Amino acid sequence: MSESHGEPYNPAEITREEMPCDVLLVGAGPANLALAIRLKQLVASHNESAADDKKLDPQIYVIEKGAEVGNHQLSGAVMDPRGIEELMPDWREKGFPVEGDVGPGSADKMLKLGETSHKAIWVPPIMHNRGKVVVSLNKVVKWLAQQAESLGVNVFAGFAGAEVLYDGKRVLGVRTRDMGVNKWSEKKGEFMPGVDLKARVTVLGEGTRGSLAKHLIPKLELDKGRNEQVYQLGVKEVWKLGPKGQEKLKPGDVYHTMKWPLPKGVFGGGWIYGMADGMVSIGLVTGLDYKDPALDPHALFQKWKTHPFLKSLLEDGELLHYGAKTIPDGGYFSQPRLSADGVLLVGDTAGMLNAMRLKGIHLAIKSGMLAAETIFECLKDGDFSAQRLQRYQNAYETSWAKEELFKVRNFRQGFQRGEFFGMVNVALGFITGGRGLAGRLSAHADYREYHRLPGEGGTTKPVDKSNFDDKLTFDKLKDVYFSGSKHEEDQLCHLQVTQPDICVTRCTREYGNPCQHFCPANVYEMVPKAEGKGASPQLNREGEGKENAQGLVLKINASNCVHCKTCDIKDPYQIINWVVPEGGQGPVYTNL
Ligand SMILES: Cc1cc2nc3c(=O)[nH]c(=O)nc-3n(C[C@H](O)[C@H](O)[C@H](O)COP(=O)(O)OP(=O)(O)OC[C@H]3O[C@@H](n4cnc5c(N)ncnc54)[C@H](O)[C@@H]3O)c2cc1C
Repeated sequence: MSESHGEPYNPAEITREEMPCDVLLVGAGPANLALAIRLKQLVASHNESAADDKKLDPQIYVIEKGAEVGNHQLSGAVMDPRGIEELMPDWREKGFPVEGDVGPGSADKMLKLGETSHKAIWVPPIMHNRGKVVVSLNKVVKWLAQQAESLGVNVFAGFAGAEVLYDGKRVLGVRTRDMGVNKWSEKKGEFMPGVDLKARVTVLGEGTRGSLAKHLIPKLELDKGRNEQVYQLGVKEVWKLGPKGQEKLKPGDVYHTMKWPLPKGVFGGGWIYGMADGMVSIGLVTGLDYKDPALDPHALFQKWKTHPFLKSLLEDGELLHYGAKTIPDGGYFSQPRLSADGVLLVGDTAGMLNAMRLKGIHLAIKSGMLAAETIFECLKDGDFSAQRLQRYQNAYETSWAKEELFKVRNFRQGFQRGEFFGMVNVALGFITGGRGLAGRLSAHADYREYHRLPGEGGTTKPVDKSNFDDKLTFDKLKDVYFSGSKHEEDQLCHLQVTQPDICVTRCTREYGNPCQHFCPANVYEMVPKAEGKGASPQLNREGEGKENAQGLVLKINASNCVHCKTCDIKDPYQIINWVVPEGGQGPVYTNL
């Protein structure tokens, strides 16, 4: 008997409510929250001396796809306080959450790892962390959101921006995601249409690989003449240390590691940051420009923890939290243009990340502040034309944020040409103010970097899960449990495979379906056809469709997704389109 079908969902025919505001901020990360705070500060000081008819009272809306601000925030993090100090000089007195100060007595070391050895090596002063602070970014943004709300900013958590609204090439605002649509694109239960949020200016601060920015940037040609963006994937756990571990690591201690277990030619490294309350933040970043389609960054992270240095730290501790997220690290030459008609880009969405230092929080805050200063001038003059918004770009070009990124402008691209080239380029970069071996090195998008399988028919090497002992090392499913990630199963899949046939034909043959390996949350699996019913883009409602030569189809476990965006970046054919799920769903990160 065939299943009964519900009322078809046709987004074009839906009548939606409109909500106007002055400034719409998409994403409650440090960039947009700093923007909101700075704008309110400027308005308040303007209003102190302005005549009544010149006083300003802008409506500022922040929307955030996490159910609560901070739920989707994951970072290292050692924060350079330069940004927050500029935004709020009394940040410490106001209770900014610090896990530990990297003080004179703290460890601040770069370790070169061999399989069982470790050796501290010299690093240039730019990579020193003394005077910085260890933070948990999801605590930081919760605090920033409280500051913003106390100044009168409206923060709407649980609202995901699904679509940019345009008039030609002018951005008018953003439509939030419709709720109550089943996976077969039919209305179910209580259908709630998304709202059209219209603003005088919209700011995209979606973080890494923004699902709106990804389409907006090429549409408005903001990436014209720029390098392609490249990314790393950070896989992270927070542990509660036992007594032995707490003897070894104090809050504010900072270790970075290089080499083992990353395969030769793979960019990346590890971190160990001492937090408050006996916790430790550990993680491994892997450059997504790796070539082996069977490489599994999550498995590498697990292997990294078995190094004697890590093992001795963690052995009497316990896992508390897990998460993963990508990092845009192409640097200055990969940054898109920062403004267009009706829209500004801030933070990671604008590529504001210093890959050499693995730091972006201070730059995100600074970009938000610069954007706020431009918006404030627009508000005063009642002029939000593209020309006026362009002042944000000009302000950035003369700021310390640009100066910092310009000094490392060829850093990441150097390593795309091999480790030796990368190291020489870095050394020369120090002498030449960031120029290195060339005026501007090009960069290639990560998905272009794969080697094909030998013979194009072989199978990829599966990860040996017998190595995961459930004490020190965990498989992806166990780790996902510690991310708190949840999605309603019966909704339109937020991982859209636009050409499903390719997965079971060319992708199996040419690359062995790397999505099963690169995803750190076990979202993608190749399974026998019978197991894919209802969760495979190759199969229809009745479970019929095309399988690959081994009789397998792709199964998408969308509810596991931790919103890291790796699939959108590293899929070799660029046929996975990450879109926002219904608002409020996804990971529930704490202490990350
Ligand atoms: C593994 C890792 C380690 C790092 N380590 C460090 C470090 O040690 N020091 C440091 O300074 N920096 C570090 N960074 C970088 C730093 O975290 C980022 O540069 C910074 O968080 C960028 O801030 P943002 O506001 O641009 O974006 P984010 O902090 O990513 O915030 C973006 C927000 O937008 C929301 N959002 C996205 N799309 C939508 C949408 N369509 N609708 C509604 N909401 C949306 C997201 O849920 C998120 O809350 C690290 C990053 C990672 C991933």
